[in-house]
Amino acid sequence: MLEKPSENEEEYFTRQEIERRRKLSQEREASMAEQERERARALHFMKCPKCGTQLEEITFESVRIDKCFGCEGFWLDKGEIETLRSKEPGYLERLRGVFQA
Ligand SMILES: [Zn+2]
Repeated sequence: MLEKPSENEEEYFTRQEIERRRKLSQEREASMAEQERERARALHFMKCPKCGTQLEEITFESVRIDKCFGCEGFWLDKGEIETLRSKEPGYLERLRGVFQA
């Protein structure tokens, strides 16, 4: 015949069960947060942060520029500002010239 667990054992098993469920809940939350980040990435990738229009990647003198034809903005990826700085004088004027409507 099985003995009824003492209060301490019952508390111990209940705490274990609660801890297991807490961990599962935290894992679900982390998974949902990651899914939300993935969803946002898919939804916003290459969309203008100002107006939402699809950005067009245009390379000019080896600098890749994300151009919005909705609001006429330009967007630069990480490291591209350094590339721009390394360009010879007059680059920005030429860039402006080619994008003028
Ligand atoms: Zn835009």
